[in-house]
Amino acid sequence: MRQRSDVVVIGGGIAGVSVAAELSVNRTVTLLEGEATLAYHTTGRSAALFFGSYGHPDTLPLTRRSLEWFENPPTDHPVLSPRGALTVAFSGDLPELEGGIPISATEAVERVPVLDGDQLIGAVWEPDAADMDVAAIHQAYVRRLRSNGGEIVTGHRVTHLARDSTWTITTSDGTWEADVVVDAAGAWGDEIAMMAGLRPVGLVPKRRTAFMVTAPQDSERWPLVTDAGHHFYFKPDGTQLLCSPADETPSEPCDARPEDVDIAIAIDRINEATTLGIRSIRSSWAGLRTFAPDGSMVIGPDPDEASFFWLVGQGGTGIQTAPAAAQLAAGLVAGDPPMSGNPFDPARFR
Ligand SMILES: Cc1cc2nc3c(=O)[nH]c(=O)nc-3n(C[C@H](O)[C@H](O)[C@H](O)COP(=O)(O)OP(=O)(O)OC[C@H]3O[C@@H](n4cnc5c(N)ncnc54)[C@H](O)[C@@H]3O)c2cc1C
Repeated sequence: MRQRSDVVVIGGGIAGVSVAAELSVNRTVTLLEGEATLAYHTTGRSAALFFGSYGHPDTLPLTRRSLEWFENPPTDHPVLSPRGALTVAFSGDLPELEGGIPISATEAVERVPVLDGDQLIGAVWEPDAADMDVAAIHQAYVRRLRSNGGEIVTGHRVTHLARDSTWTITTSDGTWEADVVVDAAGAWGDEIAMMAGLRPVGLVPKRRTAFMVTAPQDSERWPLVTDAGHHFYFKPDGTQLLCSPADETPSEPCDARPEDVDIAIAIDRINEATTLGIRSIRSSWAGLRTFAPDGSMVIGPDPDEASFFWLVGQGGTGIQTAPAAAQLAAGLVAGDPPMSGNPFDPARFR
């Protein structure tokens, strides 16, 4: 039996649920997710940091605009909690970071006493960086979608898309019809376009590794610490420290797994820069951060088929930009081009 909606959104990560919720205000929307649970892939594997200066320059305004949603979320508790971020430099000049305050090596060590001050030339302090409650953010959009009558279907992998007068979307277990398709399939974004007979934009999923170690005492209030060259980061997470080598290894779309060598590299780099002396880890995971060829996002109608919308290429900032990116995408679906143009237009790859 075929089911019909105005819009079918493919992908139940943060991109899919946020745009589906926005669209459900005045449209019937079905969200199709291939896995048995939502947010199983990259969205469930992030470092959960709101980091105002981080990401492709074109995406920084999306992060800024999203702050309003994060500061007034439709949840019964805040989704941001203060963390701060310290970008430490070992040589050269301090990086210029929007909203960042240059501080001395001594001040950096006062904030994070395990840093080896003798190696540092200084640091940039970003007081506004904050931990995000990603599960609560994702759930807030799921609630909004459901309360607007939207349908969420998990365990249904899209296998084929065909366009006649409407779209026919075939899944592993049933068929839907829709006027508009939104591709929010993360690492699989190009695959979905090709199923629809459209040209890929050249997305590259890149594996990023994360792991937990036991945190030293009194570290709960440390900021996130990263180095200016983005070779590692660590931040407190309850009684543990979340650590990463900040790796970016190109990968096929897949259920990403951590490699021992990447964990070993991170431990070396963090032990070199600190007195933490990490010897063992408590858990580890990896996720795919997916980038377009120019590193920016891809949001808008396909140049060859205006009823196919892209919402992919979120890279390492897909959570912190989600509210504004979803509003932009929903506006474009409604035919409202942004006043100042759309830097994320998929047509730039033609
Ligand atoms: C280690 C790590 C740290 C990160 N830290 C941060 C951070 O601190 N702050 C931040 O903002 N961002 C961070 N990110 C990035 C952020 O997690 C991503 O940008 C974001 O989660 C991407 O969301 P998405 O919805 O596009 O992708 P996903 O969450 O991967 O969702 C895509 C969904 O599409 C589904 N799908 C694919 N193909 C099909 C199909 N054929 N049929 C049906 N469903 C399909 C998949 O199953 C998947 O659930 C981090 C990422 C990693 C890996």
